[in-house]
Amino acid sequence: MIRLMFSLVLAVFLGSSASAQTGDVVTTRDISDINWMEFKEAVPTKVSTVLLPTGTLEPHGVINNGADITAPVAIARRIAREVNALIAPVIPYGITGSMDAYPGAFSISEAAYRLYVRDVIIGLAKNGFRNIVVINGHGGPQTAVLNSVAMEVGQEKKVRTLVINWWSYCSDVTLQVFGEDGGHAGWNENAFIQAIDPKLVHKDRYSDELATANPAPGTYSAYPAPSSIGLYKEGQGYVKFDQAKADEYFAKVTQKLAKLILDTRRKWDAAGL
Ligand SMILES: [Zn+2]
Repeated sequence: MIRLMFSLVLAVFLGSSASAQTGDVVTTRDISDINWMEFKEAVPTKVSTVLLPTGTLEPHGVINNGADITAPVAIARRIAREVNALIAPVIPYGITGSMDAYPGAFSISEAAYRLYVRDVIIGLAKNGFRNIVVINGHGGPQTAVLNSVAMEVGQEKKVRTLVINWWSYCSDVTLQVFGEDGGHAGWNENAFIQAIDPKLVHKDRYSDELATANPAPGTYSAYPAPSSIGLYKEGQGYVKFDQAKADEYFAKVTQKLAKLILDTRRKWDAAGL
């Protein structure tokens, strides 16, 4: 008993105070909050994975224009410790596309976005991260650019990269939780934001009229997009504001994403890559 108490006292004495308090290997998972001395001690010996959230600013029905930023940042915060990763500051501006005419929207040109994101990912590799995971919040051409840049940097810098579009990868979770498909700013994305911060959801402004089914490929295209809520399937994904389903969706999506990262890293290791 005395020996046990002695080792407990010793453990507390030896551990650095903040990380001992949280029981974590680092005092913070946030790259912009960590200092250079701790960074040097932690990367890559204790932490070799980084999560890079990417988004854009565009209209999203009755949720915030920055929903594509809010979602990946919240995902990174929820899973960082489980997958033993640090979180890089979000890249908030992105390639918006056909919703860029709406108030408060921004769009970065593909050429500028490509170079900027490339330099950020190269910077993460240079800083010692072996696994660079992009948690992307916005699709379209942005996804294509992220995929190609991540592969290029992987080839050049001998790092391992993973780019995840959370809403696509978890479309099975959408069907499971809501019993129907979702949409851009549809029930699924609305619910995801509702789980993160209900204050960002303006139910009083909602009507089904705000939503339009996305055109089937090859049928028509409109610029600007006539609705900021784009349903993946006709008649499905109209927003309902169910907090319990929203919370369940957030928990299941983040769980599935953490598993993908852990499985991918384990397979990279097993293959000796
Ligand atoms: Zn979105």
